[in-house]
Amino acid sequence: MNEVLRIAIQKSGRLQEGSLKLLKDCGLSISNGKDQLKTQASNFPVEVLFLRDDDIPQYIEDGVADAGIIGENIFAEKQKAGEIIKCLNFAKCRLALAVPRTEQYSGINWFEGKNIATSYPNIVSDFLKRNNITAGIHEISGSVEIAPGIGLADAICDIVSTGSTLLSNGLKEVELVMKSEAVLVAGKLDVGKKQILSKLVFRMEAVQQASNNKYILLNCPNESIEPITNVIPGMKSPTILPLSKPGWSSLHSVVDENDFWEKIDQLKKLGAEGILVIPIEKMIL
Ligand code: ATP
Ligand code: MG
Repeated sequence: MNEVLRIAIQKSGRLQEGSLKLLKDCGLSISNGKDQLKTQASNFPVEVLFLRDDDIPQYIEDGVADAGIIGENIFAEKQKAGEIIKCLNFAKCRLALAVPRTEQYSGINWFEGKNIATSYPNIVSDFLKRNNITAGIHEISGSVEIAPGIGLADAICDIVSTGSTLLSNGLKEVELVMKSEAVLVAGKLDVGKKQILSKLVFRMEAVQQASNNKYILLNCPNESIEPITNVIPGMKSPTILPLSKPGWSSLHSVVDENDFWEKIDQLKKLGAEGILVIPIEKMIL
């Protein structure tokens, strides 16, 4: 097979590290020199293009790139042809409306007749329409937070992760407009490229599953095996190995990262001892 899937990722910025790490965790061997604009994985039919994130949706629509890793916010704003294939669970942030901290904010009607500075005119305009608000939108490409302070607009809509930038510019977040995370987007693909993409998605799922789960080993009295199995049933069922100490076993299973601490408490109450928790690299269900 000599077909190659071209995947665009951000050249530099907040998405770059996570995108490269994901591709590498999927087993792709990629070299990324500083000034390199494209590179071919040596062991998988993928070519990686390094581009500005804002340009990626257009490249996908034009078929110059077959797929890309971008923020959902950029995908929604650009309104280009393409389909979200998978949410990637990194670069999580939100787009929010913020107003000067000194404003008495009474609700969304506050925005009626106001001017909003943003780099996301389409998303903001859709949001205002949905809420029956008429407001001016002032598109600027960066440093949006200073707009109210210099008299350019009454409010802003921008990306927020912790809110500290807003705070230091005298603003407060008042409305959530959209949540975003990195997503894998693809354009129209022929059969060969679709096959490569689904292979890659399969690997991404294995990586994601693994990062959501931990391998757990513990010792327990034999009479506790059943209640412990109910708490951590694992993928099919736990592995039970006898300890050389009579009446005791070692139990191996998999536990979901999210309810990990709660489970540990239950396990201790059920008599588990010597609990070891180990990261999983890949997990195929
Ligand atoms: P480029 O030069 O490629 O256009 P940029 O300056 O537009 O880059 P970045 O600031 O690197 O973009 O952000 C890229 C994406 O990362 C955003 O579109 C958003 O999806 C996500 N992002 C932005 N800020 C944060 C944040 N504080 N926390 C988490 N994710 C974020
Ligand atoms: Mg950008």
